[in-house]
Amino acid sequence: MPSDHLPETGRPAAELLAELARLRAADLPVRGGQVTAYVYDTGREAVHDLAATAFAEMLEVNCLDPTAFPSIVALERQIVGAVADRLGGGSGVFTSGGTESIMLAVKAARDAHPVDGRGEIVLPATAHPAFHKAAHYLGLEVVHVPVDASFRADPAATAAALTPRTVLVVASAPSYPHGVMDPVPEIAAVAASAGVRCHVDACVGGWVLPWLREAGRDVPPFDLSVPGVTSLSCDLHKYGYAPKGASVVLFADESLRRHAYFASAGWPGYTVINAGVQSSRSAGPLGAAWATLNAVGAQGYRDLAVGAMETAERLIAGVAEIPGLRVLGEPAVPLVAVASDDPALDVFAIADQARARGWFFQPQLSYQGIPPNLHFTLTGVSDIGALLAALADSAKAARAAGPPAVPPGLAEALAALDLDALDDADFAALLASVGVDLSGGGGEPEMATVNTVLNALPPATREDLLIRFLSALYA
Ligand SMILES: *Cc1c(COP(=O)(O)O)cnc(C)c1O
Repeated sequence: MPSDHLPETGRPAAELLAELARLRAADLPVRGGQVTAYVYDTGREAVHDLAATAFAEMLEVNCLDPTAFPSIVALERQIVGAVADRLGGGSGVFTSGGTESIMLAVKAARDAHPVDGRGEIVLPATAHPAFHKAAHYLGLEVVHVPVDASFRADPAATAAALTPRTVLVVASAPSYPHGVMDPVPEIAAVAASAGVRCHVDACVGGWVLPWLREAGRDVPPFDLSVPGVTSLSCDLHKYGYAPKGASVVLFADESLRRHAYFASAGWPGYTVINAGVQSSRSAGPLGAAWATLNAVGAQGYRDLAVGAMETAERLIAGVAEIPGLRVLGEPAVPLVAVASDDPALDVFAIADQARARGWFFQPQLSYQGIPPNLHFTLTGVSDIGALLAALADSAKAARAAGPPAVPPGLAEALAALDLDALDDADFAALLASVGVDLSGGGGEPEMATVNTVLNALPPATREDLLIRFLSALYA
C-alpha cells in the first residue's frame, strides 16, 4: 500500500537534517534562559556538547539486559551512588524521569504493604500529577489533603487522612508550582507512627538543595536521613542539567527497592528482569547523565545552584516593584510563582504579551483557592534585568489591553458539551472557533482565552478537554 508518510527510497541525510532544523525553528529555544520552564541550561557549552557525545556513544546499547552490556551497570552504580551520597544514602534505580521514579516508588510501597481492598496514597494538593498517574496505573486511590495558606502540606490533616488502607504518604521537597518545601520531618513522623511508608518528591529540588546547603544556605531536612522517609526521587534532567531521560529513585532499604522490580519467566522467550517500567531502552540518557555529573562536579553544582538562586531572589525583589504582581509563598529553590492581585491585570494575558517579546512564562491555572499564576523555573543563565523588563512591559501591555474577552457562556457550554459525540475534526473546528489553530501555521498562539476558559472550569472538565486537545493535535 503506498504511503504519503514514508518515502519509497531513502532520502539524503543533508535533506533530512535540513528538515529537522526547519521543524525545530518553531520550537521554543532550549538555551539562553528566555524559556522559564522545561529546559535547564548551565551556560557551559562544553558540558552540553560532551553530554551529546556521550549520549551518542551509548545510543545503541540496550538497557534490556545488564549481563549483555555491563557498562550500564557500572554507569548506573556511579550515578545512583553520587545521588545517594548527597541525599541521605540508600540504594536506587536510574529511570527515564520523575514520572517513572514516582511510579516505581508507588509500586514498591503498594507491593510491600498489602491491604484489604484498594490501597490509598495520601497526597498534599500541591503534589505532582505523576502521583495521580501512578495511582491510576497501579489501581490505587488518591486521598487528597489541602495545603496551608503558605502552600505547605499540613501534618495534622495528613494524619487525619490515614486509613488502614494507606500504603504511602507523600511530601514534596519542594512542590513544583510555588517552589515551597513541605515539612518533611513532620509528615514522615506522621507516616512512621502509623507504620506507613513516606516518599519525598525531590524531583526538582533534589539536585539543587544539597548544593545550596553546602554553599552555606539554610536548607531544612528533607532527604533519606530524615527518620520515616523511605524513598525519594531526584531528577537529573532538571537541576542536574543532564539531557532528558534521567532521574534516580532511592530507597532507604534494599528490600523496598526490590519491590520496585519486575521479573517474568511466563513465556517461551528470553527471561525478563526490569528495574524500571521500560524494557528495551537506549543507554544514551544514562551515558549523558554520567558524563554531565562528572563534567560539572560538586563545585560546579554549588556554583550553578547559587547562581540560579540569586536569579530567583532578584526576580522576587523585582516583582515587588511591579504594580499588581506578587510572589506566591516562599520558594526554597529557584522556582517562583507570580500572581496578580489586580482584577484588571490578567496573568494569562501577560504570558501572551511576554511570548510576543521572546519570553516563555509558564501559565498555571487556579486550584483549590490558589490563584492563577505564572511559573518561573530559573537558572543562572537568565538575564534577570531583561526578564524583569519584559515582565514589567508585558504587565503594562496586558493591563492596557484588559483581561481576555471570553465569549459569554463559553465555559458553561463547554462544561455541558457531550465530548463523546465529537470526533477529532469536530473538536479541532471547535477550537478554531475560539482562535486556537492546531495546524501549526498560526504564528504566536493566543493562549490567554484558552487558559481563561480552562481556569473557569472544574479540574475534571479541564482534564476531559485536555485529552481531546491532545487527540486532535496528533490526529
Ligand atoms: C518534574 C517533576 C516531576 C515529574 O517529572 P518528569 O521528569 O516530568 O516525569 C515530579 N515531581 C516534581 C516536583 C517535579 O518537578
